[in-house]
Formats: sequence, C-alpha cells, structure tokens
Amino acid sequence: MKKKLAIIGCGSSGLITLKYALEELSDWQVVAYEATSCITGCWGRPPSGFVSTSTKYTTQFACYPLYDARVHRNLSANAQTGRYPDFFCDGQYGVYLEEFAAKFGLMPHIRLRTSVSHVEQNQEGKWILRLSCAQDDQGPDGTLIVKDTAEFDAVVVCTGLADSPKPIDSPVPVLSRLDRSDSIRNQKIVVIGGGESAVDVARRLAEPSRSNQVWLSVRTGMRVSPRYHPIRGVPSDFLRNRLLMSFDAGLRNTIGQRFVEFRMRCERLLNWLFPANRHLRDSSLDETHKLRNRWSWLLTQSAKDSLFNMYHNKSDDFLEDVAQRRIRIVGGNSNPSYCNYFHFGSKDVLSVDPDLIIPAIGYRSKLQELTLGKAELKDFYMGVRHIRFDGLFAVGMTRPIIGNIPSISEIQAYYLVGQLSGRFAAPLDIESRHRRNRTELEHRFANLDTSNVYPVEMFPYCDQLAREMGCFPSLANLRSPLRYFRTMLSPATTMHYFHDRPMPSDTAPIHTPHLLTALLLLLKPLDYVVRWTRRTGRYPPSVDFTDHQQSG
Ligand SMILES: Cc1cc2nc3c(=O)[nH]c(=O)nc-3n(C[C@H](O)[C@H](O)[C@H](O)COP(=O)(O)OP(=O)(O)OC[C@H]3O[C@@H](n4cnc5c(N)ncnc54)[C@H](O)[C@@H]3O)c2cc1C
Repeated sequence: MKKKLAIIGCGSSGLITLKYALEELSDWQVVAYEATSCITGCWGRPPSGFVSTSTKYTTQFACYPLYDARVHRNLSANAQTGRYPDFFCDGQYGVYLEEFAAKFGLMPHIRLRTSVSHVEQNQEGKWILRLSCAQDDQGPDGTLIVKDTAEFDAVVVCTGLADSPKPIDSPVPVLSRLDRSDSIRNQKIVVIGGGESAVDVARRLAEPSRSNQVWLSVRTGMRVSPRYHPIRGVPSDFLRNRLLMSFDAGLRNTIGQRFVEFRMRCERLLNWLFPANRHLRDSSLDETHKLRNRWSWLLTQSAKDSLFNMYHNKSDDFLEDVAQRRIRIVGGNSNPSYCNYFHFGSKDVLSVDPDLIIPAIGYRSKLQELTLGKAELKDFYMGVRHIRFDGLFAVGMTRPIIGNIPSISEIQAYYLVGQLSGRFAAPLDIESRHRRNRTELEHRFANLDTSNVYPVEMFPYCDQLAREMGCFPSLANLRSPLRYFRTMLSPATTMHYFHDRPMPSDTAPIHTPHLLTALLLLLKPLDYVVRWTRRTGRYPPSVDFTDHQQSG
C-alpha cells in the first residue's frame, strides 16, 4: 500500500509543495485540494495597476527560474511595464504559476473546487480530511456540494494567511473586505494601518477620478523600503547579498539603520557617487520628491522597532500620493468613535468625521479552524513541522520582514519533503530547539503578535533550514572560492541552496558598489567580536546597538 500525502490549498505554496512531493516521494500517493477553481491563490486576480513588492528574480521558484538579475527598468519606456519590468505587474505572477503547473504536470494531481472543512488525527495516527466538493449542473440550483472524507498518512496545510482586520466598534460604517472597496466614490475615508494592503487600498481610493478624501491612520511610524534604490537605481532586492546577511542580526540592524538614515539624508550624494545608467536616471529631485523623502524620514524616525525587527512596507509609491496630498497621514484615533485623529507625531487632535473606516491590519492562519482548535502556528517547528502531531506540516505561514513568500515556501517544501523521503533526518532535539526558537522570536519581535504570525528575516531563516538539510552555500559546499565569492556578493536568492543546478551567481551581475563591499569587509572583524561576545553570554541574541526610538 502506498503512503498518502494530502496538500490543502493550492496557491504558490501548495503548488511548490506538490512539485517537490511528486518528484521525491515516488512511493507516495499525493493529492492537492483547492477550494476554488484556480491555482493562483491570492495573487490570482490582483487589482489593475498592481506591482509586486519583491522582484521577479527573487520571487520565482529556484526550480523554475525564468528571470535574471539584470536591471530591465527603462524610465523612458511607457508607463507601468516600463517603470517596473523587474517586478510582477497585474496578472503576470498568476501566469507564471499556471506555466509552472503545466511544465511539471501538476494539474492531474489537484482536485479543484474541493474545500477541506477540517482535519483530524484518528487513533491509528491517520489524518482524516472532511471534504466538500462542488460539482456543476447536478443540483436544482446548478451546483451540488458532495461531502466526503479521505484518509492520509501526512498532511501539509498551504491555505495561506487570511486578512484579519481588527474589529472596530464605531458609529461610522466600517468596511472590512478590502476587495469590496472598488466602487467607493465621493467619500471621506480613513484607512487604518501601515502595511502594504493598507497603503495599496488608500492609493486606489485616492485616485483623482474617484473624488474621495483619504486619510491613512498609523499609530506609530513605519519602515518604507524603496522598490528601486538610489544606488545605481537598481531594485533594493538586488543590493541584499549574502555578505550583508552574514553579519550578526543586532549588528546588521545597526549598520542597516545607519545606512537607511544616510540614504534618506544624502540621496543626492548617493546618486552622484553611484549613478544609474542613462535609462534609469530619474528627473526627480523636484519638490514632490523632496516631500516624499521628508515623509519617509518622519515615518522611519517614529517606527517602533529596529530596522530588521519589524515589517517593511515596500509599496513605496504611496509616498507620491502623500507628497501630493491625495493621501493625508494622521496618527491613531483620539476618540473611541474613530471620528477624530491625532496629527501624525503630535498630541493635537484633528477632526476628520469620516464617512467610512477601512481597517487593514493583520493576518492570521486558518490552522486553528482547520484542526478544530488543536493545532496553532506557534507549535510548528520553524513554522513547518508540528512538534507533537506526527505528519502535520505547514508551508507558507511565515511572513518575511523583508523578502518574499513564494521562495521561502519552496525551501520549506523542500525541507518537509526531504524529511518524508529520508533525504535528511529531522533533528532529534526538535522540542528543545523549538523552545529556543520561540524564546528568541518573542524576544526579538516583541512588538509583533508571534502567536498569530511567524515573522522571519528571509535569508537567515532559509539558511537555518538549509543548514539542517546540508545545502547551506558554504565554501565547503560550493567547492570553489570564485563561486563562493560571487555567491556572497551577487543578489541573494534561494537558488544558492541548490548546488547541483546551474548557479545563478556564476553569471549574475554584482550590483553592490565595491566601496560598500570594502566597508562591509572592514566591519567584519567587529562582527566576529560581537558574535564572540554573544557566545560568551555578554549580549542576548537580538540586542542591537542603535538608539532607534527617536521622535519624529
Ligand atoms: C495582491 C497581492 C500581492 C502580493 N504581493 C506579494 C509580493 O510582491 N511578494 C510576496 O512575497 N508576497 C506577496 N503577496 C503575499 C502572498 O500572500 C504570498 O506571496 C503567497 O502568494 C502566498 O501563497 P500561499 O499559497 O501560501 O497562499 P494563497 O495564495 O493565499 O493560497 C492559498 C490557497 O489555499 C486555498 N484554500 C484556503 N483554504 C482552503 C481549504 N480549507 N480547502 C482547500 N483550499 C483552501 C485558497 O483558495 C488559496 O487558493 C501578495 C498578496 C496579494 C494578495
């Protein structure tokens, strides 16, 4: 009898798990269940004008690389596609996923329109899935829902994170479904939250053709990362390399914070020192650009935690709307009815009297609903493997501070499939490792609700999984000093973990200027000292050396 593996949910996380499972678990029967009729998950129908926050190069799966790390941006080309060719625009990522599924023959293994209502482990240790399958043209109103159950040896939950806006008790109407905001016109609206969903919805509502007045309410500041960096005008993703990532987290926070402040203050100098090529030269050190930078500075200065300890907002275009006063930024609400708000960074009160409030804060996993309250995200080792329930896994539940979710999901999928196939053994001391991880997580991300989301720094997190699997891109594993050197300096990507495939770093351009590389190398001895003091217990793991709590 073949063993059976179920994958619940078939967006990018489910698809990549299915791909690795079919490839490596040839003696298993693998089935994926998807509630809707498509396999593109939450990227399926993005609003028009959508631009991803992570680049195509870093977001693509390492096992299906279609994009390189050259910069394709050309500001003299036409609007969106010319401005953001290095990012997925509109439905491009959905198309990528569909092509991926076709290339690896995944569709025959996916049961579409089949929702898993819950999962339970029986006394024999088997996983029982309760299914609802929609079948067309078979019932009086067209669709028949057939209930069924199925038994499996292991289950991977890939249902994504659901938007979970904070409940608001206010006499003002509240809209909690962001996707229902499209028809709103001629209204005074307050969007609450500083995340990417919040600023994206605020931007759409602030389009002049809608004649809305839009406020964005952020209690504290936020970290806004530019999609394209002033250094050489390249995507910020391309300046993040393994050399930078190799620094101690606290020291990285400190260096990063100083550098971000320097970037904001000295953009002209950076442009002059590291100019973009002529296609990328932006006209824009004009008044709007200065205002945009000023807001970026104010928001960063009042951000409540260190650089890499809180989520970054990479939808930086909203600053353009702020600079042009289409979106006005205010602080938190000053009264419980959500009618009045503080001026940003001040105790003065502004009367807004909105017609509508849109809370856009927070995510939660559906794990508890699915397992009838038995499994919680905080009980999954590295966010992947449940520490008590044998055969229960999750993929796609971690949220990167900076980085992207699909390629993290790929490393998680490779990790769990590797454990099931026996490619490597799971650590024996998983429970004590898990306890240590949790303590560190709660200490480091003290301002985030870590029982509900699992925040990670993308590459250090993936490195930890890679070390367990033995595929960390160390000099010993790469076996060539030149390859190692290029891997350290070229844009960081999860492709670096797969040494048996062609390595992108052999050919990828190195965008980080030599001067910055030299500075980082000069700081490396300090990194060794800090690491040593941490080992000897002088500093706890996540202490950084920045006084980041400056007022706006
Ligand atoms: C517009 C938009 C833009 C984004 N841009 C970026 C970006 O630039 N970079 C980035 O990294 N991330 C981005 N994200 C975040 C995105 O959530 C992740 O990148 C990634 O797609 C998550 O994939 P997933 O498969 O884990 O979850 P999802 O894409 O949410 O897929 C989950 C799937 O599970 C199915 N499902 C749920 N419950 C059940 C059930 N009970 N039974 C059966 N099926 C079920 C759902 O129907 C869905 O198809 C964006 C998200 C959106 C909405």
